[in-house]
Amino acid sequence: MPELARLSINQVTVLPQWTLRQAVEGLARHGVTAMSVWRDRLHETTLADAKLCIEDHGLEVSGLCFAGLISSPDPQAAGAALADVRRAIDEAAALGARCLVLLSGGLEGGEKDLVRVRGRALDRLSTLTDHARGCGVTIALEPLHPMSCATRSVLATLKLANDWCDALGAEDVFAIALDTYVCWWDPDLETQIKRAGSRIAAFHVSDWLTDTKDLRLDRGMIGDGVIDIPAIRRMVEAVGYQGRIEVEVLSTNWWKRDPDEVVSIIKERFATAV
Ligand code: ZN
Repeated sequence: MPELARLSINQVTVLPQWTLRQAVEGLARHGVTAMSVWRDRLHETTLADAKLCIEDHGLEVSGLCFAGLISSPDPQAAGAALADVRRAIDEAAALGARCLVLLSGGLEGGEKDLVRVRGRALDRLSTLTDHARGCGVTIALEPLHPMSCATRSVLATLKLANDWCDALGAEDVFAIALDTYVCWWDPDLETQIKRAGSRIAAFHVSDWLTDTKDLRLDRGMIGDGVIDIPAIRRMVEAVGYQGRIEVEVLSTNWWKRDPDEVVSIIKERFATAV
């Protein structure tokens, strides 16, 4: 059972209910000491104000979510996406975020050649190395569940994330965000966590609901689904991960709840379900 001091809450968990300032104040009020910042909400304020507010409340920023979607076959769209990632790198540096979470992007424009699209995304990632290194920002590649391969992430397994990190050859820049929702089903999970080792820069937890209703927005609260979250945590800690355990629940159901109640439930569950 992890200490509450390990808890981080991803802002997306209470995204519609709270602005960034309200989230910072709310989490601090509940004694939560870390959060991941969601860029949509960050952009409603200035970076300087956000930074000041987060610092004033003593919160650690375990991650900035998210940037990426760099797989487009259209060079102009890709250029804009890469420019946005560079902006996100600057934001992550300004906020002192532990990492910038990056999603590769899916298939676009009727493309079907996954090998080619993956190669293209990997090539584009490599062009970000110098900028991220110069800013001292870790880019955490987050594979998504394969059900998101068409829309959000051709990076669909932890093995691929390790392969991409090997290929990029910049261990000071590229790391991995491991999410229980994404990888729980994977027979190679333990092997690939061992292979990832110190590459694991973020550990996200939520649960898989057996009768899940939506590809993106029906994640379960920790303890409500079928994932053996403590077992995955043990695997991650066995390779040395001692960072924050970040509760990240994208769910239209939980978005309807009182955010103070959501945070209280997370704190309770964190003691038993993680
Ligand atoms: Zn995640």
